[in-house]
Amino acid sequence: MKIRVSGFTRESVVDGPGIRAVIYAQGCPHHCPHCHNPSTWDPEGGYELDVGDIVRLVKDTGLLRGITLSGGEPFLQAGPFAELAARIKELGLDVVTYTGYTFEELLEMSRSDSSVARLLNLTDILIDGPYRHEERDWSLAFRGSRNQRVIDVRKSLKEGRVCTLDF
Ligand code: SF4
Repeated sequence: MKIRVSGFTRESVVDGPGIRAVIYAQGCPHHCPHCHNPSTWDPEGGYELDVGDIVRLVKDTGLLRGITLSGGEPFLQAGPFAELAARIKELGLDVVTYTGYTFEELLEMSRSDSSVARLLNLTDILIDGPYRHEERDWSLAFRGSRNQRVIDVRKSLKEGRVCTLDF
């Protein structure tokens, strides 16, 4: 199974807790003004990576706490990203997902798209919402603007309300 990506970083300490491999999705429908990476918007851009090859790279890296699915918009390719997340979790690693959708929008999408539901359920920490330049705040950990939330997905789904994490 292939994922269209704009890039891949084997070790990062700024895209979620701990040392993480980061997979940058290619394709984003949100087009936030002042987006830091507009080259990721075109769904036909970037290049393809095989899910199995990404898993092998992660396995070979060692010392990783998990992987981060970043953008672009990972939920635009929810099927292959969910497959990747499932295989990463089998290794005992965790999954952080960045999205320009809100948690509530993803819940709504989940009702008619089982791949979105699967990726959401396999995500440990969701950093949600579009980047809003007027709310930018460089002091925030792992996010660029104050509207974005760091969400404990399992707890939020269990309790039926958005539960955020403090970083
Ligand atoms: S969601 Fe992220 S990648 Fe997409 S336009 Fe907004 S800031 Fe850029």
